[in-house]
Amino acid sequence: MILDDALLATLLNAKHIVVFTGAGMSAESGIATFRDAGTGLWEQYDPSVLASSQGYRADKALVWGWYEWRRMRVLRAEPNAGHIAVAELTKRVDQLTLITQNVDDLHERSGNTSVIHLHGSLHSPRCFTCARPYTFPDGIPNEPVGGRRLEPPQCNHCKGTIRPGVVWFGEMLSEAAWKQAEQATLTCDVFFSIGTSSLVWPAAQLPVMASANGAKVIQVNPGATALDNKAHYNLRGKAGEVMPALLDALIAH
Ligand code: NAD
Ligand code: ZN
Repeated sequence: MILDDALLATLLNAKHIVVFTGAGMSAESGIATFRDAGTGLWEQYDPSVLASSQGYRADKALVWGWYEWRRMRVLRAEPNAGHIAVAELTKRVDQLTLITQNVDDLHERSGNTSVIHLHGSLHSPRCFTCARPYTFPDGIPNEPVGGRRLEPPQCNHCKGTIRPGVVWFGEMLSEAAWKQAEQATLTCDVFFSIGTSSLVWPAAQLPVMASANGAKVIQVNPGATALDNKAHYNLRGKAGEVMPALLDALIAH
């Protein structure tokens, strides 16, 4: 990868870096993105059924089964070279805030202990009725190929049913998560947008806000996105290749 002098200087002088990631960050770990043709999960299922409270109310076993199938796949996946490079970068800069749209825990498992999950997590379900958190039993249950319908567990407190801890269509983001993300975005001098199509709002607003506030926006994505004409740098490539190369260049300096 060609890392030009201006980009290198920007990174070396950065006081606060925000790394903002989307589904493309986990693609090389074998977790399907939503919009990549052929592999996207949305190709096979209707999102309005699987990712909405209406869909959950209508068929809890279908929706819970789908999320459990996805969680099993994540538990079996490993962080890729991109996740690891982000964790390494975190150790080498004054301040780094990691914001993700991903509902997996691959950033955490590669060493980033503090991650802002804008769209929630597959690993933090809660009661649909009383909102108390639910703890999964340990271990990785058997996962039939292609998934299956599965009745959700019951809440220990109110006997309500458990729902996935992700933000569904039509739902607000957690106010605390959004505030933290916004705060970091407005105080950073470098903003990385990695592996996101920049189509899902309000998350897609963050790099635009960063740029308007004077931060340099660096996009890492093998394809074109809605952010291309707003980013200062478009590094065309996979997260698992570009991020390690970038880290190497920084270390070599
Ligand atoms: P998206 O599917 O809309 O876009 C994925 C982007 O990643 C595309 O621009 C694609 O070109 C890029 N990409 C593909 N492979 C890449 C790679 N190896 N390196 C870098 N980029 C790569 O995903 P999104 O923008 O995150 O938004 C959609 C929603 O999908 C989010 O709300 C998120 O919660 C959800 N989602 C999460 C996961 C996960 O947790 N791993 C998986 C699927 C979907
Ligand atoms: Zn409950």
